[in-house]
Amino acid sequence: SPPVLAVVGRPNVGKSTLVNRMLGRRAAVVEDTPGVTRDRVSYDAVWNGRTFTVVDTGGWNPDAQGFAERIAEQAEIAVQAADAVLFVVDATVGITDADEAVVRILLRSGRPVVLAANKVDDQRAEAEAAALWSLGLGEPQPVSALHGRGSGDLLDVVLDAL
Ligand code: GDP
Ligand code: MG
Repeated sequence: SPPVLAVVGRPNVGKSTLVNRMLGRRAAVVEDTPGVTRDRVSYDAVWNGRTFTVVDTGGWNPDAQGFAERIAEQAEIAVQAADAVLFVVDATVGITDADEAVVRILLRSGRPVVLAANKVDDQRAEAEAAALWSLGLGEPQPVSALHGRGSGDLLDVVLDAL
């Protein structure tokens, strides 16, 4: 079976939009309401002739108590079943407590991690992406899941990690 990429991160950072972008079709559930994706949804994607399975995550309630912990828990489950992880951060928001909780799990997992700095819709937002170096996960890959900017380069890096 193809290698598995888990896509993790806070609600509303653009995980499902990015998964759609990787699939080249609107397959994952994307809504303006945070946390709309139920549980974990898998899709097969192809890039440069290589097939891999993308697992979109979500489905938790952002208003629940212990929200950051719930996100981290979800990430942990998805990461255990994955060969590599795509960690998505909203570069326009910056680093939150929930992001840092996920980072701790990712570092502990030993899985290769690609850091996507999403919502970098234009050149001006590149500086916001660079600020994500401080997460300690290596080079942030600037991308706009919405417009497709940087998505080819991101996929190249993802395939190298798988
Ligand atoms: P998820 O909860 O992490 O799966 O996030 P979604 O993919 O559902 O996206 C949440 C919101 O962010 C939606 O309104 C998307 O249209 C928006 N969004 C996603 N990617 C981008 C992006 O690259 N740029 C901008 N400006 N908005 C984005
Ligand atoms: Mg989603």
